[in-house]
Amino acid sequence: MIHVNTNYCKGCLLCVEYCPKKVYIKSEKLSKKGVFPPEVKYPEKCIKCHLCELMCPDFAIIVEDKDDK
Ligand code: SF4
Ligand code: SF4
Repeated sequence: MIHVNTNYCKGCLLCVEYCPKKVYIKSEKLSKKGVFPPEVKYPEKCIKCHLCELMCPDFAIIVEDKDDK
């Protein structure tokens, strides 16, 4: 499970750029902050490497190791 807190996200899209599995795309919807946040488009591709979490300067991403299915 991937959580993106769009209230923290400043739309730098480092997460989109650095995810090795291209899990994210740039959202077409503006967030409340007035930026285009990442959208978790292909969650099933995530290998839980946590790179997006580490790259995010605003601590807006949390990747849970367990998927609650
Ligand atoms: S790296 Fe963080 S702040 Fe930048 S777009 Fe992704 S979630 Fe938003
Ligand atoms: S944990 Fe790794 S594979 Fe999953 S979304 Fe983040 S960068 Fe991509």
